[in-house]
Amino acid sequence: MAPLGIDLRTRTTLVCGALALAIAASTLLRGRVRRVHLFFAAFAADVGLWYLSQSLFGFFQASIWERFTAILAVLLPQFALQLFEAMIPHDPDRRSRLLRFAGVLVIPLFILVLVSREPGSWLDWLTRGCIFLYVFALLTAGLYTLGQRGKQSSSRATQRRVRFLVVIGALAGLASVADFAWFLGAEPPPVGAALSIVFLFVLAQALRHERLLDAYEMLARLLVATAVAFLIALIFYLLLTFIGGFNTMYLNAVLAAIVILVLFDPLRERVEEQLQRLFLRERFDLDRSLAEARRRLVHTLEVDEMGSIVMSALEQSRRVTAAALYLRDQDGTGFDRLTSLGPRVPERIEVATARALLDRLDRGPLAMEELEREARERRARRSQSDADDDGNFARRTEVRPQVPEDAVLAAAEVLGSLCSGVVLCARDEQGEPIGLLVVADTRVRDAFSPEELTLLETLAAQIGVVLENSRLYAQMKERDRLALLGQMAAGLAHEIRNPLGAIKGAAQLLADPVPEAQIDAASREFLGIILEEVDRLDRVVGSVLDLARPAQGSVVPTDVNAIVRRTLQVLSIERRNDQLEVEVTLDPGLPRVAIDPEQLRQVLMNLFRNAVQAMKGRGKVVISTRVRFGRGTRPGSGSDEPFVELNVTDNGPGISQKVLANIFLPFFTTKDKGTGLGLSISQRIAQSAGGRIEVRSYEGKGSTFAVILPAAVDKLSAPQPSPAALAPAEPAPQERPG
Ligand code: ADP
Repeated sequence: MAPLGIDLRTRTTLVCGALALAIAASTLLRGRVRRVHLFFAAFAADVGLWYLSQSLFGFFQASIWERFTAILAVLLPQFALQLFEAMIPHDPDRRSRLLRFAGVLVIPLFILVLVSREPGSWLDWLTRGCIFLYVFALLTAGLYTLGQRGKQSSSRATQRRVRFLVVIGALAGLASVADFAWFLGAEPPPVGAALSIVFLFVLAQALRHERLLDAYEMLARLLVATAVAFLIALIFYLLLTFIGGFNTMYLNAVLAAIVILVLFDPLRERVEEQLQRLFLRERFDLDRSLAEARRRLVHTLEVDEMGSIVMSALEQSRRVTAAALYLRDQDGTGFDRLTSLGPRVPERIEVATARALLDRLDRGPLAMEELEREARERRARRSQSDADDDGNFARRTEVRPQVPEDAVLAAAEVLGSLCSGVVLCARDEQGEPIGLLVVADTRVRDAFSPEELTLLETLAAQIGVVLENSRLYAQMKERDRLALLGQMAAGLAHEIRNPLGAIKGAAQLLADPVPEAQIDAASREFLGIILEEVDRLDRVVGSVLDLARPAQGSVVPTDVNAIVRRTLQVLSIERRNDQLEVEVTLDPGLPRVAIDPEQLRQVLMNLFRNAVQAMKGRGKVVISTRVRFGRGTRPGSGSDEPFVELNVTDNGPGISQKVLANIFLPFFTTKDKGTGLGLSISQRIAQSAGGRIEVRSYEGKGSTFAVILPAAVDKLSAPQPSPAALAPAEPAPQERPG
């Protein structure tokens, strides 16, 4: 063998040996040393010593170092295999086979190494050849098994981590084969040593972070930087070498610098894209699908369309097996499902039940698996410190310590089959949650990397923008529609009411020309019909005007209970002949509401009349008032504002889903003589007082119309209700149409 002297190889192996030992020591010093860390430290130390002994052999040329190198080489696969085994849970049979095989060969190899022999003799060559084969065959088999196990893992993070480790490991292995050739007599440059240190470093990172995607992505970026640096160096080199004709180095350097400045960005983008495709294919796909979705969402104002864009983008990315998009209801008490993908998911998420989850979402997107892991770790630390505190081992095993994550995990149960997915929040301008996007890939664990979570977060933000825009758009449309209706109504009122007055006057004259005039019965009946229909027409015109006019009136702090009592008095006269049972339950501690009392009376009358008409004058109407809490509709209002609720419940036939969808539309009626304006006018009155009307209806059982108006606690000088009176006696019911 050629003497090596203090050459490049000797120096490189010395540095690499020291680095490997440092990596081994840092793993042990980091605390919380597990089995896998021990094997890693042993493996790294073995690599370090192996390089050091190569280096010492280079310095002293003593055969003792050569033998030492050989012994350490024989030990390498032992530690490597143990390490690979400890890294991923696996099937115990395969482990024992490979390890057993390696173990059996160790003894004869040691004997071969220790037997004294002539350097350069056939025995010497046989020993070297055997060790070479042994080390590389076993390391290759170990890496292969690791790769196979990685593929079978259910966690995408593990799959990627292992794939990455195997690639780097194979590269380091290949380079070391070339390196190892010195042992056989050749003298290649010592690239393998440097690459092995990179491998050790990545492995150390991989063991330190449970989720290795970060290391993976970090390396991809490192690769981009390296590739760009190489390309730039190449350009520089080419320019300086081939455009040497100027004979002016400076000019060439300036030229090269300009070319690089121009090329740098496009070059970097290209390299990054290619490397992302190569290494981060899945993220690349997700990125592309979501970018396309975001682009389309910019032009979307319809909520349903938004839902389908989002779901189809997620589906196309092939990264999601289940997803759902929930939108907050008007009331703010829950989130209703807009659309979903994959297995069945709950239709509604109640805010009260999911409170802990929503609070946690204030801090950003939430990967439930990560939270579970945090909970597990915190629990382990707690039980450890509990046991340390009182030395009571029994306590550690009996009591499962509660951790803050438990509440969030329990709340996430409401997500049903999506409870182990990633939850993201879409927010309005004030930062209040208005939508929930939940995505999951049930095929793997740790399906989304932190960078991918950021991509999904941008999508959730865009969903928030679309929701806000569509709300504003709907308001604008409604305002335009009503403005148009108002103009038409004013014109119509003018055109219809005047001739109507004349018709009515004429008909009245005909019906009663002079006190003693004789009119036959048939004519009197027809005149009666004319008068009745004229009155009806007049009412319709009046209602249209009501609907078109801004429903302001004289807004004062109004006692809803007093309005109910007064209206019922009026109605009782009107309804003397009906077979009605009217039950009234009024909450005495009701706060006042800011509304025109006349308009509120009109609303109650409409609802009461509808109830009576639905029951055909026979049945029971329950009128009740109470306080409830919910989210205010005015800007800046909180989610726990007091409201007054006025309920009108009947036990009539109820309302079918089809009818229910339209009842608030102007002119929608199912009655022969109905105008279809009562509910739309009532809804408008409630809305202009900052409230709304909600319906619950069960076909065959009856309906409840609830007028919900904000309490005028701080706005007007109303008598303040006592806190006890404000507290609802029971939790607010879930007001939902249908
Ligand atoms: P109108 O009473 O003139 O038809 P409304 O706007 O008051 O107009 O009501 C619209 C429709 O809503 C009614 O035609 C009826 O079909 C339905 N509706 C309203 N209240 C009830 C109720 N309490 N029970 C069943 N259906 C109802």
